[in-house]
Amino acid sequence: MAELNIKRHRRLRYNPLVRDLVRETVLTKNDLIYPMFVVHGENVKHEISSMPGVFQFSVDTLVEECKEVAALGIPAIILFGIPEHKDEVGSEAYAADGIIQQAIRAIKKEVKNLLVITDVCMCEYTSHGHCGLLNGEEVLNDETVSLLAKEALSHAEAGADMIAPSDMMDGRVYAIRKALDYKGFTKIPIMSYAAKYASGYYGPFREAAESTPAFGDRRSHQMDIANTNEALREVETDIAEGADIVMVKPAGAYLDVIYRVKEKFGMPTAAYQVSGEYAMIKAAAQNGWVDGQRIMLESLLAIKRAGADMILTYFAKDVARLL
Ligand SMILES: [Zn+2]
Repeated sequence: MAELNIKRHRRLRYNPLVRDLVRETVLTKNDLIYPMFVVHGENVKHEISSMPGVFQFSVDTLVEECKEVAALGIPAIILFGIPEHKDEVGSEAYAADGIIQQAIRAIKKEVKNLLVITDVCMCEYTSHGHCGLLNGEEVLNDETVSLLAKEALSHAEAGADMIAPSDMMDGRVYAIRKALDYKGFTKIPIMSYAAKYASGYYGPFREAAESTPAFGDRRSHQMDIANTNEALREVETDIAEGADIVMVKPAGAYLDVIYRVKEKFGMPTAAYQVSGEYAMIKAAAQNGWVDGQRIMLESLLAIKRAGADMILTYFAKDVARLL
């Protein structure tokens, strides 16, 4: 005879249909933003060795890839550019015919139903690989901010749907909002990398974006990995400066930050599952040490469960095929 037990939590777990009914978090294609890398040249499709399945594309192959991304039902991409020439002031970042500007025009012309978000920073474009202008070894803030505003404006002029500043300079969201509005781009949202940590998880990205700093690191502008109250102050400031969507980066090791940001501000919240997170899952799966597909889905669901409304992930295509 069974014991009377009011609290039998397993009642909701025996039948898969009941499990479906009570599921609290669901991952959908609408949650996905696919990061993509664009280089000069023609017919380029160069795989990043530390990120299997992720490529640098030239504009022509990028357009074809974007058609596939849109056909899979992924709503948005975020673009990162690798310039032909790098210099001290990152000129190509804000050149009208820069690689990103060319890519945006080509995609907007040929691909329907795909939001083009652009990453705004200087580190891919500067010869020293830092996120802004330097004085000696110091990354200057306000001088960099004016270049970022110029870069954002040139993306908008090329047809970008959304601007995503990733530099972590102070005051850049306001400067970009002002620059966009002044030129009539009042409807273009800003997704700010609001709480971006100085993380070891970015390693493979630096190969993909060819943006490793020539000396030093990014700890003078990116956040200390130990802090979360500071993340809330960063996010609060970006919202006050006009950010429409706030981002936490990286994602998987920062679920507490995502949770606190979402709880406190209730803003549309993005999380970036970065290159190192992707590479670790891929590598373990390739070795047969974990079930790659299962861990991919679990990692993304965890990010959403923590409070993210949208996830930038290199898994976007793989996930979209499954959902
Ligand atoms: Zn940067």
